[in-house]
Amino acid sequence: MNTIITVKDLVKNYGAFNAVKGISFDVYEGEIFGLLGPNGAGKSTTLEIIETLRQKTSGQIIVCGLDLDKEPDAIKKLIGVQLQTSGYYPGLTLVELIHLFGGLYNEDVNPIELLQLVNLTDKAKNKFKELSGGQKQRFSIATTLINKPKIIFLDEPTTGLDPQARRNLWDLIRSIQAKGTTVIITTHYMDEAEQLCDRIAIMDEGKIISLDSPDKMIDDLVSGGFERPKQVKAASLEDVFIHLTGKEMRDE
Ligand code: ADP
Repeated sequence: MNTIITVKDLVKNYGAFNAVKGISFDVYEGEIFGLLGPNGAGKSTTLEIIETLRQKTSGQIIVCGLDLDKEPDAIKKLIGVQLQTSGYYPGLTLVELIHLFGGLYNEDVNPIELLQLVNLTDKAKNKFKELSGGQKQRFSIATTLINKPKIIFLDEPTTGLDPQARRNLWDLIRSIQAKGTTVIITTHYMDEAEQLCDRIAIMDEGKIISLDSPDKMIDDLVSGGFERPKQVKAASLEDVFIHLTGKEMRDE
């Protein structure tokens, strides 16, 4: 297992407030790594520091063998960061937006090839504001791939989507991983983390309180004597919903 990100003793203070309290973890090349935790845990702060968008107070960060303190610009070229979709120009078409972002990255991109990756070629000439929620998220994931990054960072990519669109995004994220890209993702959906992530770190109040595969975490809890208060059924309400409404996307 090759390490692609190393975070060592990371501390972030906002004035007198200690938001990240000396955390250390590694991300392995090619994995989907989830960063979970309640609001205010310090997830965004941690990720934005790794993404070179925020200054740390202390600690050491290595990304793709590069020291963040010495080579932040080189790191920027190797990573893709998902922007909040509200940041796009709603009146531009997808092709125009890709050219715009390509220009920012100084990268000569083929918009149709990029849109193919996220199954949006038939929307190439549509304006961003004309896309459904799931399509907007797929497009914003496409924009993280413009500079052919080694690592992409996805911030709650499926929040607010219907179950079909969420599954479709999971498939997309898996296909990106299958091409060798490392994926760091935040989510508040535990089923999503369980399905998608190879390993997860759970943060709370500025500390990492657990780091392992979802399977191992669940097994550890159960072997400690934990039982669900309600009898577990063989299917969930989500299964019922998918069974009734089908797996197909409605908003194509
Ligand atoms: P999460 O992403 O897990 O919700 P954040 O990293 O956004 O957590 O925030 C961690 C803590 O740091 C919160 O208590 C938040 O209020 C605080 N915080 C975040 N950004 C700032 C800032 N720019 N100035 C002061 N406090 C901040």
